[in-house]
Amino acid sequence: MGVMGGTFDPIHHGHLVAASEVAGLFGLDEVVFVPTGEPWQKTHREVSPAEDRYLMTVIATASNPRFSVSRVDIDRPGQTYTVDTLKDLSRAAGEGTELFFITGADALAQIISSWRNAEELFGLAHFVGCTRPGHTLSDPGFPDGGVSLVEVPALAISSTDIRRRQRDGEPIWYLVPDGVVQYISKRGLYRGAT
Ligand code: ATP
Ligand code: MG
Repeated sequence: MGVMGGTFDPIHHGHLVAASEVAGLFGLDEVVFVPTGEPWQKTHREVSPAEDRYLMTVIATASNPRFSVSRVDIDRPGQTYTVDTLKDLSRAAGEGTELFFITGADALAQIISSWRNAEELFGLAHFVGCTRPGHTLSDPGFPDGGVSLVEVPALAISSTDIRRRQRDGEPIWYLVPDGVVQYISKRGLYRGAT
């Protein structure tokens, strides 16, 4: 089972392609998308309400029978730590389920340097770091066997850019699923944010 954590503010095709690519490469039966609760290391900006980020993630993944969305991080009070995410999901999935935590290479480098319980994390899941344009992995300090690096088809898409585009009146079509474009417009998200 793949686990794709993220702020998903908003979810975009980079996230979806990365999940699909890793699922194919590792033969995963399922990928669970887990929107974060309290923003972690993103205190410099207002993050959209968890319910909006959750619903956009549901809309974006609805058409794929192997994709689902979990509320574990949204429903757990306080900041989101990946160690809690993985413990909750592995408990829910039951014994014998192998977890693959899918993350961007940028985020993976942060796991090593600043996330708490880094050692414990690697016991809970196999980590898959996806490289994308502009994010090369230079930190070689990963434990042996715990981490794989995967190159996803070049998708220079980021939530930051989508928020900026929406604020500046530029198109976001085809960067996110159509239903997410419509949801953003309907809820008036990212009007003043970056
Ligand atoms: P922001 O610009 O606000 O940081 P983001 O686009 O990086 O948003 P997140 O919700 O922070 O989106 O990302 C969730 C996970 O997906 C992270 O591990 C991130 O590295 C990874 N990711 C984001 N964009 C891509 C992409 N285009 N290709 C592959 N992985 C990505
Ligand atoms: Mg990011």
